[in-house]
Amino acid sequence: MLPLCPKCGSMMVVQRSGGKRVWVCKRCGYMEEGRSLVKSEAIPHSQKEKVVVVEEGSAYKSLPKVAATCPECGYNEAYYWMVQTRRADEGMTRFYRCVRCGKTWREYH
Ligand SMILES: [Zn+2]
Ligand SMILES: [Zn+2]
Repeated sequence: MLPLCPKCGSMMVVQRSGGKRVWVCKRCGYMEEGRSLVKSEAIPHSQKEKVVVVEEGSAYKSLPKVAATCPECGYNEAYYWMVQTRRADEGMTRFYRCVRCGKTWREYH
């Protein structure tokens, strides 16, 4: 099964160029790099289960900030996020993390 040229619709042939595999249209000269004929289902299972490691500091920076007083250093700005507790009737618990010292605490009612 050969891919078809997206420009003129004729069959493309594979050529090697600098160690790379390149599809070339003989009619119009269109080139396409790195196209694989391997079906997506053939990708090994392990590749789908890659764990994305997020550096702690950068993850917190994407959180919204809110005015809250840090119990540790008294700073008045903190990141916050919500966590759904196991029991639905307890609702959401709000957590804070001090922008200055990194102290993390939960909201007490
Ligand atoms: Zn073509
Ligand atoms: Zn603090």
